[in-house]
Order: sequence, then structure tokens, then C-alpha cells
Amino acid sequence: MRRKLAAGNWKMNGTKASLAEVAALIAAHPSPKSEVLLCPPATLVAAMATAAAGKIAVGGQDCHMKASGAHTGDIAAEMLADCGASHVILGHSERRADHGESSDMVCAKAAAARAAGLVAVICVGETEAQRDAGETLALVGAQLAGSVPDGATAANTVIAYEPVWAIGTGRTPTLEQIAEVHDFLRAELVARFGTEGEGMRLLYGGSVKPSNATEIFATSNVDGALVGGASLKAADFGAILSAL
Ligand code: PEP
Repeated sequence: MRRKLAAGNWKMNGTKASLAEVAALIAAHPSPKSEVLLCPPATLVAAMATAAAGKIAVGGQDCHMKASGAHTGDIAAEMLADCGASHVILGHSERRADHGESSDMVCAKAAAARAAGLVAVICVGETEAQRDAGETLALVGAQLAGSVPDGATAANTVIAYEPVWAIGTGRTPTLEQIAEVHDFLRAELVARFGTEGEGMRLLYGGSVKPSNATEIFATSNVDGALVGGASLKAADFGAILSAL
């Protein structure tokens, strides 16, 4: 049985004052039945981990593939762990697009995350042009195969299906389209990782909000959500959490 996961990605949003939202979320949901994860900007990981006091998990939004060294501006997985992070988002489409991250790079980062004891939340997803061209399954299949390292387990790997065209747009795939991709990803994971692939959580991401969370969470092979905009406010994220 896969435990549901509600993960929030604050992206490049938030200052110390935003930690009030974490306190409000914990106060409103003191014992959620699902796992809850918030991934703030790196500047807030340590403070959020302190504020969360183990009640919710905290993660980074990226890490470097190397353990240390001359990489100005980058952050190693071990540094995130040292700040209290337990997870790290890897291969988000904004990083793939803005920073030219290939699946090979994401795979190396996931291996670095594992070495540091972090759970990797690995993102895959097609652009609108790729969907229109009928390339969705081939594309996400290739991203999955290239981004998830050998030896990945259900304990150290979560996959997020995030159609690029649904991120921050208010548009979502139909439930049938979500089910088609999640069922496909599950089959690919089981074919490669066996029972570990059966246990890996598959999150849907892209314009999840309180009004659509219930039906998305009831969709085949959806084990939770990776939420961007609606994770910034405790009321919205809490409502999504309640739908799980
Ligand atoms: C995301 O960026 O991971 C995301 C899903 O964003 P939003 O929920 O705002 O579409």
C-alpha cells in the first residue's frame, strides 16, 4: 500500500515571513493521514525544517550532482540534508528548460541525493507541442528511463508527472489522460524495478488546486500531488491535503 504524499514546491517564492504559512498549516492539520512535504527556496530550508519540527518533511528544489567542490552558487545534497531536508525535487521542467538539465544530469543528481540520504522527487512531463504530436508516452518514458538511477527504491524515489503545459496555467489534462500516463509510468517502473517500482509513489503536478484535487487523487495510480502555486498558502495547501 503506497502512502499518499502531498508535496509543495514554493519555487522562487518566500522569505522568512512566509514561514507563518507553515505554522498555520501544522496548526490546521496536526496529524495528517498523508505524508506532507514542502520544498521552499534553499534560503529557507533550515528555518522551515526548524519551524516544521518533524511534523512535515522539508526538501530542496535541486542539488548538484557532485558532493562538493568548485561549483559557485550550487548546493550539494549533503548540504540540504545538513539543513534538515529529507527530500529534493529533481528535473523539474523549469530546471530542464531554464538550466538545460538533461535526463543524464537528473540521474546523476538523483544518485547524489541517494548518497546523502535524500529522497529524490524526479519530475517528467511533456510540452503541449509534444502532446499534440502524440509523443507524450514516448517522451515521459524516455525521461523516466534516463532520469531514474539503477538501484532506485520505493523508499528513496518518488516520480512526479507534470505536463509542462499544465504548470501554472490553470489547465489540467483530463482524468483519462492523467490515468493513461500514470498507468504507463507504473508499468515502466514495475518492468524495471519490480516490487520497488510497484511501491514508488507517482504524483501528479500541474495546476492542482482545492477544486480539482479530489477527482485527481481518485485517478488510477495517482499517489498524491506536486503542487506549485497552491502550496504557498496554508489554506489552499491544507484543502488539497484534506482531499487526499
Ligand atoms: C510545479 O511547478 O511543480 C507545479 C505543479 O506548479 P502549479 O501547481 O503552480 O501548476
